[in-house]
Amino acid sequence: MSGVNDNHDSRLSYEENDNEPKSRGTAQAYLFAFDFDHTIINLNSDYEFPNLIDTPLPESISDRNKEVSFIEYMNSVFRFLHSQNASIADLREFIRKLEPTKGMVSLLTSLVRYKQSQGDSIKLLVISDSNDLTISEWLKAQIIDRLPSTPTQFPFDVITNTSIIHETEGLLQVKGYEHQTSCRTCPSNLCKGSALKKYTDLHGPFTRTFYVGDGFNDICPTLNLSSQCFVFPRINYYMYKWLQKDDNKKRLKANIVFWDDANVIHNTIRSHVVEFK
Ligand SMILES: [Mg+2]
Ligand SMILES: [Zn+2]
Repeated sequence: MSGVNDNHDSRLSYEENDNEPKSRGTAQAYLFAFDFDHTIINLNSDYEFPNLIDTPLPESISDRNKEVSFIEYMNSVFRFLHSQNASIADLREFIRKLEPTKGMVSLLTSLVRYKQSQGDSIKLLVISDSNDLTISEWLKAQIIDRLPSTPTQFPFDVITNTSIIHETEGLLQVKGYEHQTSCRTCPSNLCKGSALKKYTDLHGPFTRTFYVGDGFNDICPTLNLSSQCFVFPRINYYMYKWLQKDDNKKRLKANIVFWDDANVIHNTIRSHVVEFK
């Protein structure tokens, strides 16, 4: 992907003609994309991990947050937790209990059922600056394990930083999803705009994309979405505030629906996707 600004100016969108979204034959293909922290779960998992133990983070680590990349900072947090005898099993248990946003479990469960009934034309994607251990552990505990029967395939695709579990020591470390320099608005370890475009090129085209997020790094992927698509910024978070400026709002062609209860997202999808309950 070239510089993100060039990309927006030349409108390299997935659907060249907004009025006639491409689809596979008569089947409708939909992409449901979700950020994780502050979107699927209420808080930010990365900032919650230190609460796993009673000992507060030493200043030598908390101060590093301002000096080093976020990935390096999190790796020092995980090393500290490890030094305080928090095991990978403790981390997993902690992740499983992270509180979802209101209405989110019901929405994700309905989307999984919808995918099971419709097949591969429906894609569920989590695209996040967290890590794959956190996301897959949470989805498994809060969504998959609560279904009446276990799906044969994990229904979510996940684009995020890679977690590396050092088994013998029981230490978790995280490696950036990529190292990119072409998008100046996204962090170097993940440009969600470029990642979403690659995903759509590979698995699409989609009749509509629905994108749910909250943060500054959720803006880049939504700038290329067409007028057929929907963007759901969480009320009172960064993207919501950014969209209060008309000049910013004009940069999106997609429909914008603000939410603080995922039931709002659920109802919007119901009225635009046939047979989705
Ligand atoms: Mg977020
Ligand atoms: Zn970007």
